[in-house]
Amino acid sequence: MNTEEKTLNFLEHIIKDDIESGKVTQLATRFPPEPNGYLHIGHAKSICLNFGLAETFQGTCNLRFDDTNPTKEEVEYVEAIKRDVSWLGYNWDGEVKYASSYFDTLYDWAQYLIKQGKAYVCDLTPEQAREYRGTLKQGGKNSPYRDRSVEENLSLLEGMKAGDFDEGSRVLRAKIDMSHGNINMRDPILYRIRKQQHHQTGDKWCIYPTYDFAHGQEDAIEGITHSICTLEFADHRPLYEWFIEHLPVPTRPQQYEFGRLNLNYTVTSKRKLKRLVDENFVDGWDDPRMPTIAGYRRRGYSPASIRKFCEMIGVTKSDGVVDVAMLEHAIRDDLDKNAPRAMCVLRPLKVVLTNYPEQKREQLTAPGHPNRDDLASRELSFSREVFIDQEDFREEANKKFKRLVIGKRVRLRNAYVIEADEAIKDDNGNIVEVRAHIIENTLGKDPEDGIKPKGVIQWVDAADHAEFEVRLYDRLFTSEAPDSEEGDFVEHINPDSLQVLDRCLGEKGLLEAAPGQSYQFEREGYFCRDSSSANQERLVFNRTIGLRDSWAKMNQK
Ligand code: ATP
Ligand code: MG
Repeated sequence: MNTEEKTLNFLEHIIKDDIESGKVTQLATRFPPEPNGYLHIGHAKSICLNFGLAETFQGTCNLRFDDTNPTKEEVEYVEAIKRDVSWLGYNWDGEVKYASSYFDTLYDWAQYLIKQGKAYVCDLTPEQAREYRGTLKQGGKNSPYRDRSVEENLSLLEGMKAGDFDEGSRVLRAKIDMSHGNINMRDPILYRIRKQQHHQTGDKWCIYPTYDFAHGQEDAIEGITHSICTLEFADHRPLYEWFIEHLPVPTRPQQYEFGRLNLNYTVTSKRKLKRLVDENFVDGWDDPRMPTIAGYRRRGYSPASIRKFCEMIGVTKSDGVVDVAMLEHAIRDDLDKNAPRAMCVLRPLKVVLTNYPEQKREQLTAPGHPNRDDLASRELSFSREVFIDQEDFREEANKKFKRLVIGKRVRLRNAYVIEADEAIKDDNGNIVEVRAHIIENTLGKDPEDGIKPKGVIQWVDAADHAEFEVRLYDRLFTSEAPDSEEGDFVEHINPDSLQVLDRCLGEKGLLEAAPGQSYQFEREGYFCRDSSSANQERLVFNRTIGLRDSWAKMNQK
C-alpha cells in the first residue's frame, strides 16, 4: 500500500521515518494477548493496528501468547484467540508463538544478570517488600539480601527452579536502583515461584518470569522492530530498555505506546467479562450482548465492520471514550450495503382477505436488495390469509399512523394494496384477526380509483412461511461508564438486555438461512441466523442492530 495516499497516524510516521532512514529494513510487529479470556473490542483495535501496520509497510506480524502466568490461563482461550484473529481477516507470520517457548533462554539470561552482578535472590516477605519499595514521593531502601554473592544467588535460583522452596518465600530481582523516581526501576521482580501446571510446558517449571522480564526479551528474540502497547506500559518503558541494554539479546526492539479503546455502555476488561460469564449474567463468552469478538460475530457483526470501526477511531497517544453508536454505525452501514432483504413479522396478527379466492396461490417476486442486482431475487407466496405485525394495525388512528386502519388502505410490500373492514376480538377484547379485502389490479400499480395508500407494511403468507425464534438485544449496561460508577459494575447490568420472541414468522426463503447469515428484515432491523452450535436444529435469529442510526444523525453537518 502506498503511504503517500492517506494521512498517517503517529506510529505510521515513526515507521516510515525508520524505514526511510535505514534504521529498520523490514517492519516486524506482534499482537501479544495473554490467554486468560476471550478477546474484546479493545483487542480488535490492537490487532487492526499491529497487523494493519504490517500490511501497510509489507512487514510481518506475529501472534504471540503471553503465557507467563499459568494460574489464569487455559487452552480454550488460546483456541478462541486464534479463531478471532483469523476471523478478523489477519494472518500471523509463521507458527503461533508462545512466550513459554522462550523460558529456557529467559532462565539463561537471568543467570547472566546474576553473573553480571545485576540480579539477586531476595527473601523479603511480600509485606516487607512493599515497605522497602517506598512510595511515589519517597524512594525505597535496599533489601538486606541485595549483596548476596554471585555463587549464592546462582545456587538459590537453581533451588527455586528445582522446587526446593515454597511459593512466595523467594523471588529473583534485578539490581537497579531503589531510589529511582520510577517505581518500576526499584529492583523489579524477574522470577516468582509458582508450583503450577502450565498449558504448554506442563510441570517442567515451578518458577515463572514476570511480564516485565519476559516481554521485551521475547520481542528481541523474535526480531520485533516496533513493540506497540497501550499507554499504561509507558512507565515500564525504562525497564524494557534496561533489559535490552543489559542482556545479550539478538536484536533491539523499541517500545511505543498508544491510547486504549474504551467504549461507553461497555466494559473492556477480560477480568470483568470473565465475571459476567462465571456468574451467569450472560450465556457464555460469545453471548451476543458481550463486547467480545466472538460475541459480535454471533450477534451478526462482520469482520469488515469491526475493521472499519477501528479505522474510524484512529490511533492516538491519549486514552478516550468512544461512543458505542459509532461501532453500531459501522455495522449498520455494512449491512445496509450488503445484507439481503427479507420480510418478517415479529408479533403476528392474522389478516383474512375476504375477496381473495380460498384455493388461489400466487408466486410474487421481490428484489434481494434495492440496489444490488447481484443479490438473488426472492419468491414470495401469497394467499387469502396473511400475517402482519400487531403494531401495524389499529381500529382507529390519526393521520400520522400510516399503516392499516379500518376503512383505510395500506400496501403490502411487494404485493397488493389492501383495505381493512373489521377487527375480530376474543372475549377479553384483544384483536385476534383482521378482515380486509384486496384492491384488484394493484400489483406494482396504484389503485385505479386514485385512492392511494399512505404507507407500506411487511407481511408473511399464512399458508407458506418460516417460523422461528427472535432474540432482541439491548445494551448490556444501563450506565454510560459501568466501570467507573461507585460500587460493583454488575449493579448496572440492564435487566432487559434480552427479549425473546418465540413465534415470529418470515418469508419461506428464510428456511434456507445458513448459520451466521445476515438479513435486513424490512422495517425491523438487521438480523442474523444464530450460529451457536446449541441452535443448529432450530431456527433462531439474533437482532444485530435496529435501522435507526443515531450516530450518523448526530454527526451529519
Ligand atoms: P485486559 O485488561 O482486558 O485483560 P490486557 O491488556 O491485559 O487487557 P492482553 O491480553 O495483555 O490484555 O492484551 C493484548 C494486547 O491488546 C496488548 O498489547 C494490549 O495493550 C492490547 N489491548 C488490550 N486492551 C486494549 C484496549 N482496550 N484498547 C487497545 N488495546 C488493547
Ligand atoms: Mg493483561
